[in-house]
Amino acid sequence: RSKRRGRGQITVYSREIAQEMKRATQLEQALRNAIISDAIDVHFQPIVSLSNNQVVGFEALARWNDPDLGFVSPGVFVPLAEERGFIDALSETLLRKAAEAALSWPRELFLSFNLSSAQLMDPGTSGSILSILGRVGFDPHRLELEITETAVMGSADTAHRIIADLRAAGVRISLDDFGTGQSSLGRLRDFIFDKIKIDRAFVSRINSDRASEHIIKAILAMCDGLELEVVAEGIEDYAEAVKLRTLGCGMGQGYHFGRPADGIATLRFLHENYYDAAMAERVSA
Ligand code: C2E
Ligand code: MG
Ligand code: MG
Ligand code: MG
Repeated sequence: RSKRRGRGQITVYSREIAQEMKRATQLEQALRNAIISDAIDVHFQPIVSLSNNQVVGFEALARWNDPDLGFVSPGVFVPLAEERGFIDALSETLLRKAAEAALSWPRELFLSFNLSSAQLMDPGTSGSILSILGRVGFDPHRLELEITETAVMGSADTAHRIIADLRAAGVRISLDDFGTGQSSLGRLRDFIFDKIKIDRAFVSRINSDRASEHIIKAILAMCDGLELEVVAEGIEDYAEAVKLRTLGCGMGQGYHFGRPADGIATLRFLHENYYDAAMAERVSA
């Protein structure tokens, strides 16, 4: 009897595994098609200066809405693209689209773009990024690249070379999701970062959990000493924004200031929320 049930279980498991594999293959095929047919879009989320709520830049975030699969999160398809070797093709298209859109923004606003860890193991990455910027005509000084600590640990020498080449061309580097995963303060000693993005996990608890507040205070003090800029991620309400500003955090990002939106909506957002001094001067002259 028990033997039978055992076999039954094996059948159930293998059916589940087979279904799972089928789903994974469908997803992979759909992703491949989406990349080839240029169906993956880029949206933008504002990053603001907390002292005056003025927009200072936007983070580009990949968006894929598949006709059959529906909305697929970048948290799912970016890792899949990495695993299947599509990340270069995907990332190049997204960077081109993002930089083209950013050409229409006021010149003092930066574009922040996420790099995946696989890209930091490929020595061709810096050349490819700079050549895309050149073709689009986007100033490298206006680009920031967001990377995670895990990415720098992976293949340290290659990653450091890529980062050095990009920084030499004027690109700035942000450390994304700071405080999560394999955080190591030692990384900050390498001076390869210009900015730190404090993970939403701390920000969302800043007014309810004393430990999170102390951790954020410590991060801010450290960044002040190391002359690193700081962005608090995932600010969802006014109270969080006020608290972070009071603690001296320079920049913020989150639903409170604006959700990720497509290129057109981003231009509308700028029109409504951004005072363009240069434009005002041109108009009055
Ligand atoms: P990330 O770089 O840390 O991006 C921030 C994530 O937080 C985004 O999720 C954003 O939509 C979300 N977010 C922003 N403000 C708030 C808020 O106030 N509350 C909450 N709950 N969430 C907020 P998203 O767009 O789903 O992206 C997830 C991750 O996928 C990103 O995390 C990034 O690691 C990766 N990703 C997205 N686009 C790209 C891309 O073009 N290339 C690469 N390599 N990775 C990307
Ligand atoms: Mg990011
Ligand atoms: Mg982040
Ligand atoms: Mg993240």
